[in-house]
Amino acid sequence: MPATIYKTLAATPIEIVGGEGVWLHGARGERILDTCGGVAVSSLGHRHPRICAAMAREAQQTVAWAHAGSFTCAAAEELAAFLVARSGGLARAQFLSGGSEAMEVALKVAYQYHHERGEPDRSIFIARRQGYHGSTLGMLSVSGNRDRRSIFEPLLPPASFVSPCYAYRDKAPGESDEAYAGRLAAELEETVRALGPERVAAFVAEPVVGSTNGAVPAVPGYFRAVREVCDRYGVLLVLDDVMSGMGRSGPLFSHLEDGILPDITVIGKGLAAGYQPISAYLVAEHVYAALAAGSGIVRNGQTHVNHPYACAVALEVQRTIEDERLLDSARARGAQMRALLEETFAGHPFVGDVRGRGLFLGVEFVADRTSKRPLAGGGALVAELKRRALSRGLLIYPGAGTVDGVRGNHVLFAPPFIASPAEIAEMVGRFAELLDECQPLLSSSAHADA
Ligand code: PMP
Repeated sequence: MPATIYKTLAATPIEIVGGEGVWLHGARGERILDTCGGVAVSSLGHRHPRICAAMAREAQQTVAWAHAGSFTCAAAEELAAFLVARSGGLARAQFLSGGSEAMEVALKVAYQYHHERGEPDRSIFIARRQGYHGSTLGMLSVSGNRDRRSIFEPLLPPASFVSPCYAYRDKAPGESDEAYAGRLAAELEETVRALGPERVAAFVAEPVVGSTNGAVPAVPGYFRAVREVCDRYGVLLVLDDVMSGMGRSGPLFSHLEDGILPDITVIGKGLAAGYQPISAYLVAEHVYAALAAGSGIVRNGQTHVNHPYACAVALEVQRTIEDERLLDSARARGAQMRALLEETFAGHPFVGDVRGRGLFLGVEFVADRTSKRPLAGGGALVAELKRRALSRGLLIYPGAGTVDGVRGNHVLFAPPFIASPAEIAEMVGRFAELLDECQPLLSSSAHADA
């Protein structure tokens, strides 16, 4: 009888005993092809020789732990400097353990910024309906996935929501990207005005929406337009680059592709590529300066802030990505995978859309390609797809609630950057075989009520 609590209490997950590159190895001899870096985490794949060597070395050299309230260390300093220098203008970074908590601190810092500047009434966060920002109560409150919010709704602090930038479903026929971006920026502006600009702290968004929406990038110009709205009303722009950042959707920081500078951005998953649990938030100089000139402290304390070993491993991961030009590889593999997905599913009755940016791609399922009516079955359907994929030795990352937090489903692709062209082709080929096998299941979902 295991003593561990699993996500699904009724089933014991596959025991993983090792891995190599894009492959995971199970205790019963399973060999599992990883199409998604788990949840867009493993950008260097498994057992990367340079990272394994660095981990062994750092275990000898780096202090195991030293409280950031009293100490700093070379690894945290170097990692912060490395990231700041590549951020296009952000000034400072602090490290935490997971994406939810870094997002949580980012929003606390955003509020503290206003408080220090004499605007304590700016306490409302505006987020987007299809976004996901983490599993803590604070982050669920700004997340749009209704399933994840579910029974916790009574515990969640209030937040305000605007439409996502979801061109496949919401861009009107004949509407240009510019007009669509303008329409969404106007909606944000109206929301800020309706709430009262003096009460709004920040607008929170994922540059490329991941788990809830299935790798949906904003249309060109969207982030420039919302940046302008934020500037006009003194509202901070907080980006959640936890899944899309660190090269997953192209550059190290997604905002570089969108041509804007956020006030705060948050990274996680790919920062240490899963070799350590580490995340970070980075702030612009004016945010840091407001805190420095005010109370002079960050009103947040956690045990594992700027963890020396985690920072050292993350630094080696980032140096490896840079030295081995893996952002270029990721872009090339992304273009290859996207072309293969588009070609393979061009006529597929239940694949409505192939989208994404960089090596962060998604396919959205539909019952009917013309009406875009979603498949019925939601979470149960994609859970079954995932189960069948795993039994074929294929790890996929499906999601449900794609359309509106409840209806719709998709599969995300986020393979390791080190995948070879042949491995990418194998991933798409095996996914296509999986959909062939699941054709009766998809078909019956298409004929049921969504
Ligand atoms: N933000 C985004 C965009 C995410 O995708 C996630 C994780 N899926 C989080 C925040 C939360 O990160 P974590 O699970 O590491 O707490």
